[in-house]
Amino acid sequence: MPSACASKAAVFACALVGGAVALAQTPAPGDSPSVTVGGRTYTPQSILARNMGTDEDQTTAFPPHKVIGNVYYVGTRTLSSYLIATPAGHILLNSTYERNVRTIAASVAQLGFAFADVKILLGTHAHGDHQEGDALVKELTGAQVMAMDEDVPALRLITPGGKPHPVARVLHDGDVVTLGGVSLVAHLTAGHTRGCTTWTMKAGEGGRSYDVVFACSYRAPAPVTPAIEAEFRRTFTIIRSLPCDVPLGDHPAQYDMAAKFARLRPGGSNPFIDPSHCWSEADIQEAMLAAQLQAQKR
Ligand SMILES: [Zn+2]
Repeated sequence: MPSACASKAAVFACALVGGAVALAQTPAPGDSPSVTVGGRTYTPQSILARNMGTDEDQTTAFPPHKVIGNVYYVGTRTLSSYLIATPAGHILLNSTYERNVRTIAASVAQLGFAFADVKILLGTHAHGDHQEGDALVKELTGAQVMAMDEDVPALRLITPGGKPHPVARVLHDGDVVTLGGVSLVAHLTAGHTRGCTTWTMKAGEGGRSYDVVFACSYRAPAPVTPAIEAEFRRTFTIIRSLPCDVPLGDHPAQYDMAAKFARLRPGGSNPFIDPSHCWSEADIQEAMLAAQLQAQKR
């Protein structure tokens, strides 16, 4: 992490912008406006705190577990990383911070898979807390790194220890990534970053097929420019049109992972199948966006 990000106070802001370059223009979010959605009240600050937790939460492995079918959680308590296992090798979605890569590798091994079998590395968006570890994953596995075109300039600024970002295939909205019979569709859902990518795939369990949505963050930056507002309008329309049975996110709190994990029982129903909450996070973020735009007018 660049030296400007070394102080504790600057860590959140650095995580948000993926480097020191934009740090000065990105103040930490404040405690207003506030919105109440589903009986809970949120502020920009509380949403960020919910997403990131403590330094320890960001770097401590959450118990690795099967989400559904061939989809596994291998991230930390507050930073998601998913393994999609296939007979032809695996896809990893989100490397998180570089200092977490070996923790993720250990979680993959704990599930009985070889980290070296990761063939493709994807990401949700070009911020350090989700994609800083890309170069190290590539170094350890040889995986092909793929990223949405609109996020490539920001990814190029993420260079931990001077390592250039290893993007090898540039993706566009609607592109499909396939490996070992699995197809992941890349949906451009911009706003949080220019190339914020929501991924969808089908997973089989109990003889049925389920639509899995790996959502990008939909948290608006401040201030919201007209261009960013337009991106979010498009994004919220798109995400609500996606078929969804299993809502996931790039921070576990976005889909109440810990509570669902606690409900896992051998032979019980899968708590991650939760279509009625597919757009809960979008509801919160869309309300917050509206409140931020209202506040900006004052
Ligand atoms: Zn972010």
